[in-house]
This record gives sequence, structure tokens and C-alpha cells, in this order.
Amino acid sequence: MFIPSLRLNDKGIPILSKEDIEEIAFRIVKDYNPESLVKPQPIDIESFAEFYLKTEIEYKYLSSDGRFLGMYLYNNSEKVIIYDEKGQKAEYLPSKARTIFIDTSLLEEENDHRLRYTFAHECGHAILHTGVFNSRNNCNYNYRMASEPIIQCRKTKVECFKDYTKWSDTDRVEWQANYLASAILLPKRTVLTLASEYPNANLDPIPLIYDMVKTFNVSVAASLYRLKSLGIAKNSSYSYVVDGVKEFENLNNM
Ligand SMILES: [Zn+2]
Repeated sequence: MFIPSLRLNDKGIPILSKEDIEEIAFRIVKDYNPESLVKPQPIDIESFAEFYLKTEIEYKYLSSDGRFLGMYLYNNSEKVIIYDEKGQKAEYLPSKARTIFIDTSLLEEENDHRLRYTFAHECGHAILHTGVFNSRNNCNYNYRMASEPIIQCRKTKVECFKDYTKWSDTDRVEWQANYLASAILLPKRTVLTLASEYPNANLDPIPLIYDMVKTFNVSVAASLYRLKSLGIAKNSSYSYVVDGVKEFENLNNM
């Protein structure tokens, strides 16, 4: 397993540029499955989490209203808070260190892309953020307000790709997990290989994005933001692309 050497700030948060995260993703994917840096293909992210990163995986309802998609537990805990659907109340669950919790609602078929992305996001925390809970000087850090060594990932953060202008510690940590998730599911090398087949992608990214969704088994949103991070389709809005891909799919299935 490739373990990146990370420079941490005084709160245990790694100091990372986009290029640094690209390099970490490249080394990890090369180590896990070098073939996926040659031929564009979906990464088996659940097996990556379980057998490569050696995390435990638990599917549970994490809240009453679906606000958390995933959680990552760093150290053993007697009381991870989950939601008991039947009893409709919060419940404590004893759990082992290095456990990824996924909200059970993501097992529904239409949530497959969200499930895969959430897995990749939690893997991002597992790879990058151990230092957050080992740092002695992180008393102001949001996650330490929780009594347990756990990161709870809100829906609004897991799928948020924007670059913040004013970053809180939470924003920075969530952005890092998202960027690494995206670079593992959509390796730079193979995305650029695929993009080279679409020379008009800057002006009209729809056919390329449609191909990315099918080839890498990811969402339209994840595909668009990955392209933008690689300097392609920078002027396309999310709503334009979502409508365009739907239309493209209808035309191709006629
Ligand atoms: Zn997160």
C-alpha cells in the first residue's frame, strides 16, 4: 500500500496543492491497479477500500434525514452515533479503528454513482487525515468538537467541488478528500486519453462527459468537475451539461 508522506500544519491538516493530490492519486492508482492508468475503466472502489486500504466497511443509517452520506472512524470507539430506523432514534455502535460508514440509502440502485463517490471520499479521509486526530494542537478544530475520533461527511460537502475563498478547517479537509476521490475515480492520465478523442470538448463537452459517465461509472457532476480541474470545459455550467447529457442519451437510444 502506498502511504504518502505528508507535511502537516499545527492542526494536523496536510498542506497540499492540487498538483500534490494529483501525484498522490497517481502513485496510489499505479500501485493498486496499473492497468487503469493505461485503459480508461471504472475503479472497483469498494474493493479498493476493503482490500487495498484494509478498512472495515459498515452500511448503517447515519442520520434521520440523510444529511450524512459517509463517516470515517480513525480510532476504536465504543460509541459511534448512528440512526436506528426501526426505533427511530439515535444509537451507539462500538466500532473498530479504520471503519468507513456508508449511509444505507446509498445502496438503492439509482444512487450507485453517489455510493461510489462517497466511498472514494471516505478513502480520501483514510489516506490523508490520520494526522487530524493525532495532533496535540487541534483544540480549535471543528472535528474535535465531536467527542469521538470520527469525521462525519455532510451531503453538502461530499459533493461540493468549489474552491473556497475563505476556507475553514472543515472546508479544507473536505475539499482535499473530494479532490483525491475525484483523482482516483477519474485518473488524470486516462481522462486525458479519453478526452483526446474529443477535440471539440472545450466548446462542446457533452459527448465526452457522456462517455466518461459510461466508461468510469461516475456521475455527470463528477465528470464535469474533473474536466474543469484539468482545464477542459471551463465555461460549461452544471445545468447546461446535465440537460445536454440527457438529450444526448435520448438521441443515442432512439
Ligand atoms: Zn468528508
